[in-house]
Amino acid sequence: MPGFELFGDKEREQVQDVLDSGVLMRYGFEGLRKGHYKALELEEALARRMKVAHAQLVSSGTAALTVALASAGVGAGDEVLMPTFTFVATFESILALGAVPVLVDVDDTLTLNPVAVEKAITPKTRAVMPVHMCGSMADLRALKSICDTHNLLLIEDACQAIGGTYEGKPLGSYGDLGCFSFDYVKTITCGEGGAVVTNNSSYKINADHYSDHGHDHFGNDRGAEAHPFLGYNYRISELNAAVGLAQIERLDTFLSIQKKNYTILRQALETINEVSFRRVPDGGEESYAFLNFFLPSEISAKKVHEALGKGGIDACFYWYDNNWHYYRKWNHLKELKSLAKLPQEVSNQLQDFKKVDFSRSDHWIGRTISCLIKLSWSDDELTKRADHMVRIIKANLS
Ligand SMILES: *Cc1c(COP(=O)(O)O)cnc(C)c1O
Repeated sequence: MPGFELFGDKEREQVQDVLDSGVLMRYGFEGLRKGHYKALELEEALARRMKVAHAQLVSSGTAALTVALASAGVGAGDEVLMPTFTFVATFESILALGAVPVLVDVDDTLTLNPVAVEKAITPKTRAVMPVHMCGSMADLRALKSICDTHNLLLIEDACQAIGGTYEGKPLGSYGDLGCFSFDYVKTITCGEGGAVVTNNSSYKINADHYSDHGHDHFGNDRGAEAHPFLGYNYRISELNAAVGLAQIERLDTFLSIQKKNYTILRQALETINEVSFRRVPDGGEESYAFLNFFLPSEISAKKVHEALGKGGIDACFYWYDNNWHYYRKWNHLKELKSLAKLPQEVSNQLQDFKKVDFSRSDHWIGRTISCLIKLSWSDDELTKRADHMVRIIKANLS
């Protein structure tokens, strides 16, 4: 997945433009910037590539989720349905707005189970936030139909699946809003950065203003601009955007390398009867950022994962026991351990984690191993890795 593996002259050239002008900020300083608008150019490139009308760059993927929710009017007490398997950024962004995260089971897609989503809807539900974890997507058609029926927003977190598609549409462009991260370990990177994409021009205007203190960006005197509503600072710097501008041009190359490497590993693992693979919804094509597979039981998955690590197969994850990506270890959320008082709505409406049953999620995540697909493997390394993985898995099945 990581774009940093293939980092070089193109990135340096883009950053050098910014350093030469000395203008590190995306707004203002027209006279000095020598025509360089890296953030603006990256927004245009991203919107083109994702086939959407608008893109808004921000400082991180977490900021993108926050800005997406805020731009669509999600706020205090609104419930947002999110998966039990995701990165902590999902509930962080929801809580940042005083909204309430509601955890919902995942299925064999490793993303939101549409049946569980429908059951979790209350009169306070405002949005459904599928997270396309580890390179593949949620069943977006089913989720969209639920959202349409109940008048809910569909906000896609495509941070780990940039370049994947569903029914021919780039992931992130299917819902009302989509979010990307360009942090250092994502498929393409800005160092730090993120983006919101949408076809809705009001959301775009809201995102544009909200991510820059409410600035309306009219005229060319920043100090004289108006602030139609409250905002915050989620701006990206020109330096970060410049890196991303070089990287987005390489996205399709990165994706084709991922697909090639993924396919070699997958074909090797397909020879093992006891291994099955994460379901990709009909109409979807993965980004191939990870190879995700199921072992027959939790015990065999733990055993295989440990053996892979000991055998030198790096970057394979067993999320079930992981601190950051699965609900089981989110004690800070479950006990609402925050530095200061949280909004009353959050404490009042939070699920009772002592009672709620996520055994349907455990059933899948407990058996899942995900291996990161790297871009820098040589063909020789890859063949050896595939053979080695097959031997280790077979030896640890009992
Ligand atoms: C990385 C990631 C984020 C957050 O992105 P940052 O840029 O690191 O803030 C959000 N959601 C998912 C699924 C991610 O993988």
